[in-house]
Amino acid sequence: MSQAVGVKRIDILIEGATIISPGLGGSDEKMAVVDEGAIAIDGERIAYAGPSPAPLEFRNARKRIDASCLIALAGFVNTHTHAAMTLLRGYADDMVLMDWLNKKIWPIEAHLDSEDVYWGAMLACVEMIRAGVTTFADQYFFMDDTAKAVRDSGIRACLSRGLIATSPDSSQALRENIELCQTWDGAANGRITTMLGPHAPYTCPVDFLEKVMEAAEELGVGMHIHLSETLGEVEESRAKHGGMSPIELMDSIGLFGFRTLAAHCVHVSAKDIEILSSKGVGVAHNPGSNMKIASGVAPVPAMLRAGVKVGLGTDGACSNNNLDLLEEARLAAFLHKVANNDPTVIPAEQALTMATLGGAKAMGMDSDIGSLEPGKKADIILLDMNKPHMYPKHDLTSHIVYSARASDVTTVIINGELVMEDGVLTGIDEQEVLQTAEERAKALVRKA
Ligand SMILES: [Zn+2]
Repeated sequence: MSQAVGVKRIDILIEGATIISPGLGGSDEKMAVVDEGAIAIDGERIAYAGPSPAPLEFRNARKRIDASCLIALAGFVNTHTHAAMTLLRGYADDMVLMDWLNKKIWPIEAHLDSEDVYWGAMLACVEMIRAGVTTFADQYFFMDDTAKAVRDSGIRACLSRGLIATSPDSSQALRENIELCQTWDGAANGRITTMLGPHAPYTCPVDFLEKVMEAAEELGVGMHIHLSETLGEVEESRAKHGGMSPIELMDSIGLFGFRTLAAHCVHVSAKDIEILSSKGVGVAHNPGSNMKIASGVAPVPAMLRAGVKVGLGTDGACSNNNLDLLEEARLAAFLHKVANNDPTVIPAEQALTMATLGGAKAMGMDSDIGSLEPGKKADIILLDMNKPHMYPKHDLTSHIVYSARASDVTTVIINGELVMEDGVLTGIDEQEVLQTAEERAKALVRKA
């Protein structure tokens, strides 16, 4: 624009959006709503987020997006998944956990190769981008191929190689995880970060975890681990380890001295919650998976009251069966209301915070993502509010959690790049991903 001549050229200017974000001019717990908002993006970061029009210095943009009738949110953070398990979506449902693992999942996973993991992870990335997920935490194997899918799709992820000490290749797996950290940490313009992935205390004895901690110390990375998902696992830990729960055991060996992202934490005591809070452990709450596998109900309201950093996760597509984090926000709100017989528990605002800033905090990434604040990475999603289920507009925060759908997401910006615009993925041949994933999944089932 002529009045902006001589002013620095920024990359993207979003104008007219209703901005809903924690942190913006308020507290981390309170959602700020800016009715006629503007967001300016300079390189990878947000330069301005606030009332429209943006200050003059941010108006000379390479690309302008008219976002009237759109809601702008920070991208959703999926704090726990196994991306390539999309290939097994619908392959084995409605089974008891140990039967499901022993008879169906582990036998077919033994046939997975690196190409399968690449296409399964690509399918996951496409699904997540379409659902407004801009960051995910993953634990699986052939993680070089998941990293390539993250690189190619434009999404942001924190990757770890799942480590099971009881399997014969556990030393090799730990080497692979170390190499993953050395090769990929900071790759794809900083979109990829890494962690070590000890699967769980019941599959990783203490002597193995000590080796993992040594590696974490050397690499300066954190841990992604499953903790207290089932009651059986907690009872076994107490019987084997002098009455200690898995969380008490991990605390006693110093695991929480490293940044830890703990998936599930369903069967936790008051003492466990106190440890999670005082040690700053991030919790990935997976309401859909916990309900589908009948693991139980995590005491999320008590964890939040105690100051535990709780984010939301989908878990793998085999136990959910989708990677739609907006659905998890709704399930979290519903599950804890019915479990506590109290409709005031997990209000919409708190569910949306868990889906964004809460997840960023659980992953230790809140200085970069989780809210739409100047200085943070530009991970921004736009939702179409011109849909029947979004009228009348009494309370848009409530609408997002209780009424909106993943398909309302029209535009996704990650690390300042337009990854999806008006419903079209910009850097991916989506049909190729869907067809290749279908072919590889069919071939896999024939091998099992
Ligand atoms: Zn998991």
